[in-house]
Amino acid sequence: MTEDFDLLVIGAGSGGVRAARFAAGFGARVAVVESRYLGGTCVNVGCVPKKLMVYGAHYADDFEQAQGYGWSLGAASFDWATLMANKNREIARLNDIYRNLLLNSGVTLLEGHGRIVGEHAVEVSGKTYRAKHILIATGCWPQTPDVPGSEHAISSNEVFYLKQLPKRVLIVGGGYIAVEFSSVFHGLGAKTSLLYRGDLFLRDFDGALRQHLKEEMLKRGMDLQFNTDISRIDKQADGSLLATLNDGRSLEADCIFYATGRRPMLDNLGLENVDVQLDKNGFVAVDEHYQSSTPSILAIGDVIGREQLTPVALAQGMAVARRLFKPEQYRKVDYRMIPTAVFCLPNVATVGLSEEQAREEGYAVSIFESRFRAMKLSMTDSQERMLMKLVVDSHTDKVLGCHIVGPDAGEIIQGLTVAIKAGATKQIFDETIGVHPTAAEEFVTMRSPVES
Ligand code: FAD
Ligand code: NDP
Repeated sequence: MTEDFDLLVIGAGSGGVRAARFAAGFGARVAVVESRYLGGTCVNVGCVPKKLMVYGAHYADDFEQAQGYGWSLGAASFDWATLMANKNREIARLNDIYRNLLLNSGVTLLEGHGRIVGEHAVEVSGKTYRAKHILIATGCWPQTPDVPGSEHAISSNEVFYLKQLPKRVLIVGGGYIAVEFSSVFHGLGAKTSLLYRGDLFLRDFDGALRQHLKEEMLKRGMDLQFNTDISRIDKQADGSLLATLNDGRSLEADCIFYATGRRPMLDNLGLENVDVQLDKNGFVAVDEHYQSSTPSILAIGDVIGREQLTPVALAQGMAVARRLFKPEQYRKVDYRMIPTAVFCLPNVATVGLSEEQAREEGYAVSIFESRFRAMKLSMTDSQERMLMKLVVDSHTDKVLGCHIVGPDAGEIIQGLTVAIKAGATKQIFDETIGVHPTAAEEFVTMRSPVES
């Protein structure tokens, strides 16, 4: 039987769209199946709307700090409906851009649920399409603990569509989403509590960074409750929610938000029809070229259970398109030194090894650290302090890791990542001329190790 397509991608998210567009650009006949929204999680219920909401929350700081510079603004007020309407308009604009990107690249868009029915066959809305290669790029979905009353809680899917700003919010979790949305709700004026089952949030991040962020969040008046969890949720007569905690206390809220990780999205994908094996955590198992245990079926992005980050899904999508249709340009994805930012307030960004990881891996390390009040705040009442930290291999002088807490941390880390990935030593940092006056220049002026 002849094939309809060279590549049929299931999922028009970050990874799927990148693979489809580039494969079509290389001359392949490509289709993408999408059941929900173009652009996937990142565009619709992830990176983009989240960052817009973080910008929104940050205005609270800006208004307060502006007073030190002579501005008087009167009483600030915030309207949730305006933020949501403008955010939704921007997302709709991006959805259109994604549609045009696909169509202009010659990709066939199949809107509906994709279900694999054979090694080379996918069913969409009752019609079966045949393809030489099938690419699973279906992403992940929020997972919430199964406690009594958890149906009254929301996840990151719903948080972007709340009808009004809740007055009191409980956020459960200690990862990216919990920390970011604690800042969003607190900044927008909700009484916000973050509940995390461990000692301190952001488990795998550098210890000094985690501690510094905790102190800065507490300074802002946020309620952080560690070593605690919800054991049941009850809806009360007035519509509010009562959370009973595992230590017997109870907390009232208008919204309880579980940010407790994401599971692979394999619902009704038809994997029972083919021999596609999963790993021990239920993600699609692939080899280093993203090929599953069925050679014609590949998988990329969040669904394979590696770093759940948009730029990683993009890189994997590009690698698949090149390997299949432009092999002379194919290079494996390089997973060393992936930078990442948590867009809480203040921002956090990191690349490479934490001090703890470096020591565990047997490195003798020198630690360079600087904590200071950014110049912009010198004429304001804000007592916020930045943290900048370098973890350096004492034997080779190579910079192994870099950690930042403070404004624009995500912007600063990108450039540093290029240097560190290229193997920059501390001496190269020292010989680099700074940009003055900036906060980032601190990275090239830290001379004495705090510890080695
Ligand atoms: P997705 O983008 O999830 O796309 C999968 C697509 O497949 C979806 O559109 C889905 O509808 C579709 N689909 C699923 N099953 C089927 C089916 N059977 N048939 C048809 N279509 C199907 N990453 C960052 O790098 N920076 C950030 O700031 C950031 N913020 C985030 C904030 C939140 C709240 C969340 C939840 C995630 C965030 N991420 C961030 C992670 C990022 O969104 C993901 O890593 C990225 O979207 C993964 O891309 P993907 O292509 O694997 O899957
Ligand atoms: P994370 O994996 O980052 O964090 C999940 C958190 O939930 C952890 O603190 C975990 O605790 C806790 N948890 C897990 N299960 C339970 C449970 N049953 N009860 C109580 N707590 C629990 O997931 P997120 O949902 O925050 O985000 C998903 C992924 O999306 C991130 O890992 C990241 O890759 C991506 N993302 C990226 C962003 C960015 O780049 N800025 C922003 C948002 C998301 P413990 O630590 O103890 O395991």
